[in-house]
Amino acid sequence: MKQEIKVFKFGGASVKDAKAINNVIEILQTNKEQRILIVVSAMGKTTNKMERVVHAIKDKNRALELLQEVKDAHNIVINELFEDPTELNEILNDIFVEVEWALDEDASQYDFVYDQIVGIGELVSTRILHHGLKMAGLSTAWLDARDIVKTDELYRESTVLWEETLENMQTRVLPLLEKNNFVVTQGFIGSTSDNHTTTLGREGSDYSAAIFSYGLDVSSMTIWKDVPGVLTADPRKFNNVTKLNRLAYREAIEMTYYGAKVIHPKTIKPLQNKSIPLHVKSFLQPEEDGTLISSEIEENYPPIVSIEDNQSIVYISTKDFSFVAEHHLSFLFQQLAKFRLPVNMMQNTAISFAVCVTDKENRIEDFCNSISADFKTTVDKDLELITIRHYQKALIESLKKGKIILLEQRIKETVQLVVKGFQMMERV
Ligand code: ASP
Ligand code: MG
Repeated sequence: MKQEIKVFKFGGASVKDAKAINNVIEILQTNKEQRILIVVSAMGKTTNKMERVVHAIKDKNRALELLQEVKDAHNIVINELFEDPTELNEILNDIFVEVEWALDEDASQYDFVYDQIVGIGELVSTRILHHGLKMAGLSTAWLDARDIVKTDELYRESTVLWEETLENMQTRVLPLLEKNNFVVTQGFIGSTSDNHTTTLGREGSDYSAAIFSYGLDVSSMTIWKDVPGVLTADPRKFNNVTKLNRLAYREAIEMTYYGAKVIHPKTIKPLQNKSIPLHVKSFLQPEEDGTLISSEIEENYPPIVSIEDNQSIVYISTKDFSFVAEHHLSFLFQQLAKFRLPVNMMQNTAISFAVCVTDKENRIEDFCNSISADFKTTVDKDLELITIRHYQKALIESLKKGKIILLEQRIKETVQLVVKGFQMMERV
């Protein structure tokens, strides 16, 4: 009988140093009889450091200095892990040379250059993990995700070209999984038809794992985290959180869309479409159950709170006192889509319209300028969007305390507040 395949995804925290990588190898040791496609992020905060290299592109010496810091950090880990890393070092040197070349590219093509440089963290971390698995005597192959995940040319936020990607899974990934128990590949990156590296958006490795899960029709996917599972709120913001043992896809997609950082919001759809169960488990307590996300409907959820920061409200009103009617709304939404501003909440009156959007680069300014002929705009920045699912009245009151509420909306099961001044809360 053909053996079933699983996908494991290990994020940056799970491979942040030599001890963490050894822990991942141990988890895989206990699963060594299985067929597993392993999707890995860059080590720790490497992606942020690589972003700093790109930011410095106009000052090549500074960029090279920052790149050297990344190399040094990896070297420390490699020397701790391996007695003789000569072979691995040669491979990594080739990867880093690619960055040096990319630094000579035309800096005005910023998003393109960004993708050629920032995805390096994943190439390096997967090489290290693969080498570690090999040294531990496990059956493993390294796979370049860019040969499999094909995308359009929207650099830094590229869209998957499913047809080619699915074909690559069948013709290139399945044969590797037939010969090896483990196949180690990168999250976050893909490539265009011209083989230029693209990225799927920050924190996109979960989504990569879901793409592989869908394409390989796996029996389950597991995301290994530094928390015991999906919690009722972010433990960095709330003191009293509890773990959810089971969650429906629908619930998971709602909470992650509105800021629950535990999983990337794009992860759920491919899994739901093929009814692939998703486990969220702790790499620190691998024997514990974690959270199971599946099509099973749970009737009784506790209140679940998600907080999305970096929000802005754009207040829009007509200059000539005409109603904000359908033709206006249609134009405004076209412009919002053009500047790729995700609308998280909205409210309208006769001559005004307020939208809460995630603040990204200069997109809000560009949007406001694009509608300035007919509309006046004011923008309120640095806000938080609080989404409470399965709310209880007392909880909402306590969440509102000490804050200025700028927008509020209540629909079945869900209350959303856009607020100023969020502080650590006592209980959920
Ligand atoms: N390393 C990438 C990032 O930090 C992708 C990921 O970790 O999911 O954004
Ligand atoms: Mg990361």
